[in-house]
Amino acid sequence: MRSESDILIIGSGITGCAVARELSRYNASVIVLERESDVAEGATKANSGIVHAGYDAFPGTRKARYNILGASMYPALCKELGVPYRRNGALVIGFDEADRATIENLLARGKANGVRGLEILERDEALRLEPALSPDVLCALSVPESAIVSPYEMAFALADDAALNGVSFRFNEPVRDVSALPDGRYAVVTDAGSCVCRVLINCAGASGAEIHNRLSSERLEMVHRRGQYYLLDRADPQPFTRTVFQCPSVMGKGVLVTPTVHGNLLLGPTAEDIDDPLDTATTAGGLSEVLAKAFRTWPGLSVRSNITNFSGIRAHLTGDDFIVGPCDGCPGYFEAIGIESPGLSSAPAIGAELSGMVAAWLHLSRKEKTVPLPRRPKPFHDMTDEERARAVQADPSYGQIVCRCETVTEAEIRAAIRRPVGAYSIDAVKRRTRAGMGRCQGGFCMPRVAAIIAEETGLPLQEITKNGGASRLLSGTLSSFGKENADHE
Ligand SMILES: Cc1cc2nc3c(=O)[nH]c(=O)nc-3n(C[C@H](O)[C@H](O)[C@H](O)COP(=O)(O)OP(=O)(O)OC[C@H]3O[C@@H](n4cnc5c(N)ncnc54)[C@H](O)[C@@H]3O)c2cc1C
Repeated sequence: MRSESDILIIGSGITGCAVARELSRYNASVIVLERESDVAEGATKANSGIVHAGYDAFPGTRKARYNILGASMYPALCKELGVPYRRNGALVIGFDEADRATIENLLARGKANGVRGLEILERDEALRLEPALSPDVLCALSVPESAIVSPYEMAFALADDAALNGVSFRFNEPVRDVSALPDGRYAVVTDAGSCVCRVLINCAGASGAEIHNRLSSERLEMVHRRGQYYLLDRADPQPFTRTVFQCPSVMGKGVLVTPTVHGNLLLGPTAEDIDDPLDTATTAGGLSEVLAKAFRTWPGLSVRSNITNFSGIRAHLTGDDFIVGPCDGCPGYFEAIGIESPGLSSAPAIGAELSGMVAAWLHLSRKEKTVPLPRRPKPFHDMTDEERARAVQADPSYGQIVCRCETVTEAEIRAAIRRPVGAYSIDAVKRRTRAGMGRCQGGFCMPRVAAIIAEETGLPLQEITKNGGASRLLSGTLSSFGKENADHE
């Protein structure tokens, strides 16, 4: 297949989706090429979900600027797109005088970056705010502007909005090669064919430097830094209201204990440099490091409530700052590379700024009208009894509970599959609806979810995957199995 577009974006993580949504406001054809089978399959699905207030990044860096701007855009954007977001505040805790010095530095950095409300609390005040904290705490930086968000739900909403406004998302299309054409355009080769575009935008996360190095003579070096996590089951009441960080190091922001927007608790991440940018394995060593550090913050931690573990890969450039904008010597090629933390917090700002640069380069005019993203109904899990009764009356498939752990209904699963960028795998449905996110991790609901996807898409059940690629759930039907055996006899 050969296609042409004004703009081609590589990667549908939070950065690619934010850029795509902003560009959908202009009169231009936009294609997003994604290696995986869904949006948010890279770092965007596996991070701490914190919208950082901006005290950690060094003043004057792009990380600091995009973090502050992006974080300020989150509340309105989440409201508009119906994405869960909560300004829960954070504490950065210290256990000794060395930590106090780090915390004083963070306070100074945060003030220089313009973060509001920062103050250093002494032990008793920190324990009054978060009684589950270790009594060994000496002091804490209080960060009232820190917030939590569902990172992948944000990316899905941005992608849906972009798709509704004309952006075309193409999945399972890994970009294998990129080159500049003599006429000033770019050619991109994927497993499915080739695309030619006037502007190429690299939002390829952990592959960002590799794509950059194919086009530019200025070499970039990227380190892939894995972070492993524990996810604990929902708890009511939550032991912590705020996100609690330990002091950061040069490798990362420090191990945290945080509530999620859905009421789970997250512990992690580690920071280990690895060779393979796709190696999202968890390891016994990594997970025990998380537990040991989390126990230090929260001595009451019980591992019995652990429901899953996962890891994500930070795309760390040796230059230690984001690269956002046009690339010298490559007219028409733009990039957002090295978007490690605080990349989630920064995404709305990077999207707005990068799209503005591209629009100016192409002299694009703005569309007169945009299609607003329809409001999604409240999750059945969160409805009152009266709301549930009304929902079931209007659509009886609300009366079919598919996921018992998270109370997700058939109606919600069908709606997720029908979204503008729909869910066609078990994990795609899971992240959009929470079916399979609970304590049994899909043990009960997975077959039913697969059957609903098959019904909605018209695909045979054997084609439904856990998460794209070769992750099929079934290898065949009993009748085809019998036939194969007969053929072999
Ligand atoms: C452990 C960890 C914790 C973090 N915590 C936070 C946090 O709390 N707050 C915060 O602000 N930030 C946090 N971050 C950073 C944040 O997750 C990232 O900055 C953000 O998700 C980056 O988004 P992205 O779209 O640039 O990259 P990604 O999400 O990695 O997306 C890149 C996309 O490009 C696709 N792709 C790659 N190569 C190709 C190719 N050749 N062809 C086609 N597609 C391709 C990938 O499949 C992927 O979907 C954390 C990161 C990690 C790893």
